[in-house]
Amino acid sequence: MPELKKAAFKQKVPEYLEHLLASIRSEFGGKSPEYNAIYNQYFYSPLEDLVGKEHNLKHYEAALTSKGGLPHGLERLYKRQLVIDLTMVCAAHCRYCLRANYEPVQIKRSDIERIVAYIASDKHLKELLITGGDPFMVPRLLMELISEVVKKAPDIKIIRIGTRLPVQSPDKFDEELFGFFKSYGQSISFECAIQINHAIELQEQSRKIIEVLQKSGVRIYSQNVLLKNVNDNIPVLVELYDQLRYLGVEAHYLFHPVPLIGTHHFRTSIATALTLIKELTSSGRISGRIKPMLSLMTDVGKVTLYEGTLGAKDGQGYLDIQTNYRIKDRLRWNPDYLLPDSARVDNQGRIIVKYLDGRDD
Ligand code: SF4
Repeated sequence: MPELKKAAFKQKVPEYLEHLLASIRSEFGGKSPEYNAIYNQYFYSPLEDLVGKEHNLKHYEAALTSKGGLPHGLERLYKRQLVIDLTMVCAAHCRYCLRANYEPVQIKRSDIERIVAYIASDKHLKELLITGGDPFMVPRLLMELISEVVKKAPDIKIIRIGTRLPVQSPDKFDEELFGFFKSYGQSISFECAIQINHAIELQEQSRKIIEVLQKSGVRIYSQNVLLKNVNDNIPVLVELYDQLRYLGVEAHYLFHPVPLIGTHHFRTSIATALTLIKELTSSGRISGRIKPMLSLMTDVGKVTLYEGTLGAKDGQGYLDIQTNYRIKDRLRWNPDYLLPDSARVDNQGRIIVKYLDGRDD
């Protein structure tokens, strides 16, 4: 276990969000839930310094390190999918994000050839998830990587891109990127995962970018986070998912926040999260076509909550999470994979992982 310390995550708030906050302040007031919904996501709070039992300094460890000198930034957990962390740079720093604990590295142009050669050499790989950081912060590098994949790795059918840029700095998009998606749409299906945590983030400029991406052939889906004092109540969640539906954005995950040091003030208990998701998705309040899956980002991967997923809770507040991930699959697709200290394997070879509950006080 590495030494427990909170990473210094420099506050970074782009001009676009500063202006948005100013206009929300004049419309709703500086103490309104709408103002707090943005402010709390991006501004330092002294509550970050009250360190609890949160421990997850990083995401799960699935880096590919021994495959012929591949650069840092590739992760593999599954047969069909490779994760590429293109850059660790984002337009804004979300205070609850695990990227606070990563070095600000970036894949270089000179790495692209080796990455694409690895992708092309594995016929099982069908899908790439390009994330970070925010890949749209380095659009030229992103386009270069994708064009090389299209040329040399024809088995790749889907490319997903994780971003918050449409709601953090919509002014950073340009026509070249939209034209690129249009021109490659015959060869590859493009999908964008956007994290949008409150309907107030869906301002005119952001909506426009989402619409233009859609018109350029990119399917948009949401991977949102349930955050205390941002969106942890039913009217706000209903409004958010209604607005996403009207924009043609699909629902995917609603994550419980990762148990990172300095983020306990964002984390409801799992019991509260379950109460909210039941009310949101099984009460007739939103369309069945926009129901998110409440999921945990654990040390061994994402786990959606179903009956039987939650096991016993220990005296320290850690729950046993029963997954159906099998250790033999992990090692097959990534021989470098190391089971973290927080996980064990049950008698059927499935991984059980500890996950720190949140608190409602
Ligand atoms: S934009 Fe995404 S990767 Fe960057 S800090 Fe926010 S949540 Fe993390």
